[in-house]
Parts: sequence; C-alpha cells; structure tokens
Amino acid sequence: MTAGEECRSVSVLGATGSVGLSTIDLLRRNRDRFRVEALTAHRNTAGLAGLAREFGARFVAVGDEACYDDLKNELAGSGIEVGAGAQSLADAASRPADWVMSAITGAAGLAPTLAAIDRGAMVALANKEALVCAGAIVMAACARSGSILLPVDSEHNAIHQVFDFEHPDRVERLILTASGGPFRTHSRQAMAAATPEEALAHPNWSMGAKISIDSATMMNKGLELIEASHLFPVPEPRIEIVVHPESVIHSMVAYIDGSVLAQLGTPDMRTPIAYTLAWPGRMAGPSAKLDFVQLKNLSFESPDEQRFSALRVARDALRAGKAAPTILNAANEVAVRGFLDRRIGFLDIVAIVEETLERLVGHSADSLEEVHAVDGEARNTAESLMLAAA
Ligand code: NAD
Ligand code: MG
Repeated sequence: MTAGEECRSVSVLGATGSVGLSTIDLLRRNRDRFRVEALTAHRNTAGLAGLAREFGARFVAVGDEACYDDLKNELAGSGIEVGAGAQSLADAASRPADWVMSAITGAAGLAPTLAAIDRGAMVALANKEALVCAGAIVMAACARSGSILLPVDSEHNAIHQVFDFEHPDRVERLILTASGGPFRTHSRQAMAAATPEEALAHPNWSMGAKISIDSATMMNKGLELIEASHLFPVPEPRIEIVVHPESVIHSMVAYIDGSVLAQLGTPDMRTPIAYTLAWPGRMAGPSAKLDFVQLKNLSFESPDEQRFSALRVARDALRAGKAAPTILNAANEVAVRGFLDRRIGFLDIVAIVEETLERLVGHSADSLEEVHAVDGEARNTAESLMLAAA
C-alpha cells in the first residue's frame, strides 16, 4: 500500500465461484490493501470455511439452510459468525464493507445486491441477472442511496473504462463484442445434438456452468444487451453486437466524431475485477499481458440471429419492456438447469424461453413484489414446458 491509500474493507458474495475465486486471488496478492468482512457461497461449506479462516472474515453465509450445521462445525472455535438461508446472504451484503463483489449466479443474487446498494456501498456487479430481472429497480436504488455500481462483466467494464459519463450526448453507439462461444461455426443441426460437456467448453474463458451455457446459446450476449441498456444512457437501437472470436477487444464506445474507443486485454476476469477493486485508482494485476506481435489477427463478424435465436429473443424482450426481461431471465435459468441435467436438448433452451415469454405476455414488474411474482410464474411455466419437451 502506498502512502495515503486506505485499507478497503470488502465482502464477496459468491466467493467460491469463478468470479469469486478470481476476486479472492487478487485479495490474496494484496493483503495489506484489503480486509475481508463477509463471504458467501451456496453449498460449498468446506471451500467457504477455508477462505473465511484464511482471510479472517467476520461473517460467512451459505444460501442453502441445510448446510448451516456443516458450516458451523467447519468454523468451530474461529469466532467467525455464521448464517444460512436467503436472508443471511442479504445480511452478509448489509455488513459494513466499503466494497461488495456481487458474484452470485442468477436472480438469487438480486436481494443481496440490493442490500449492498441500499446502504450505499460501492458494488462491483458481476451478477448480470440482477440487472436483467430488475434493472429499473436496481438503478433507482443506486440513485437513492448514492451507491456506486461498477460493472465487472468484461464488456460493460470495458465500456465503463472508455465511456464519457459527463457527455453522454457525444456517444453515438456502444459495440458489445461476443466471442461467439463454442458453437460459433456450428449449424443448427449440429447444435441440436450438443451435449452439456461440449457446451461447457468455452474457447476463451473459464467460467461457471450457467454463464458457459449462456455463452454457447449466446443468450449471454442477449442478457448483456439488457444489462448495458441499464448501465449506460444509450438506448437499445444504438447498442450493437459484433462477434470477435479472439476476445481481446472487450467492447467499444463509438463517438459522434467517428472515434471509437476500445478496452483490450487478455481474457482474464482478474483485469476487470482489479479495475473495480482499486476504483477510482488502479492496481497491479496478475493477468498475462497482451503481446500485439503475437496476436497477429483480430477478426469480426456479424452475429447470426438465425442460428443464435437467443439474440433476437433477448432484444425483443428488451423492446417489449414491462416484465419481459424478468421472464426471459427466469425461464432461461430453469432451461439451462434442465439442459445441464440432460432433461432437454440444447436448442430447447431458447425455445422454452421464447414460449414462456409468449405465454406470460403483458405482465408488469414495476415493484420487487411484482418481480418476485412474475419470476416465480415464469419458472413454473418453463418447468412445465420442460416436462412436455422431455
Ligand atoms: P459460479 O457458478 O462459478 O459461481 C457462483 C457463485 O454463487 C458460487 O459461489 C455459488 O456458491 C454461489 N451461488 C450460486 N447459486 C446460489 C444461490 N442460489 N444462492 C447463493 N449462492 C449461490 O458462477 P460465475 O461464473 O462465478 O458467475 C457469477 C456471476 O458472474 C454470474 O451472474 C455470471 O453471469 C457473472 N459473470 C461471470 C463471468 C465469469 O468469467 N465467470 C464473467 C462475467 C460475468
Ligand atoms: Mg461478459
């Protein structure tokens, strides 16, 4: 730590996951700059307890109540406070940390993220599903509390780094880059036969299961389009998606004078996470550095909405507004789980999302109560469609 830099207290929600452990890696390398307040996981009590002891966390919580005793036993004698269940995840976020990493997967991350926002914490947001299912509510909560929301998703992090927030009128459009995932060159026929193992094998990024499947269907880019529409004052028609298989340019902002600003880096989440951990400063990061001579080629192509219908379905949901993005997200979570459990085929994922959207058209999601209600209804609908598809 250099003179004048305060030690920042941090909490990590979803500490045992891919983004969580990348965050932990940075904390481990910078022990004098950060103190850990709270850590959470879903069921991995051994992993969570190990991290809690290593960093001297004050509070830990598991989402699954059935894991309470295990976690309590693992931490016996440590003096670390233990919680379990959905409320305890929000309690973890409510603990007094300056900075909170929101890296729980899915809508389960919404309530804890809001708990951190409501007390005005600086929130590093990886949990894109929170913005997709309740974007207006999350952004309004930030405006109310003064909480600073820093996007961790590499595309939005890239845009955050090059966006002129003082002069948004100078921005012409956002360009979200997409790797295209493992099936970028596959036909629909080949995708129909795809197994979970094939879909999980992302060419550039190592990530949790849910986002890996979302990348394979390209629903991930659809979710990111919706995420971007909330994070940046740029309307949907001016948010473009371009496929860039090398995943070196993480996204771009085009200005009205013709200039395009991009953020580049090797595909390693520790770079965007380090940006949020040190914000508004910068800290040294361990990612491999870009070697432009080695790169040789950066290529681009248009996304194919025929083969990757998730892109069209997500853009339509964003345009439709009301509860459509909430329904899209919930149905997608259920269908991705169904595919991973081998209950449905790969192409059924987006078909189920689309059918759920059609069945629940017209619902609104203006309050948290409405979001929870429609999220539950979409899950039930998707589940029944999955039974029919099986
Ligand atoms: P992951 O599956 O590796 O980890 C998820 C974490 O959340 C784990 O700690 C898990 O225990 C916890 N969790 C999962 N479900 C939970 C529940 N119901 N209740 C409580 N805790 C729960 O996922 P990940 O890849 O780290 O992704 C986390 C979030 O970050 C996702 O929203 C994802 O879209 C986003 N994201 C991830 C990456 C990446 O590179 N992995 C990149 C961009 C955005
Ligand atoms: Mg991303």
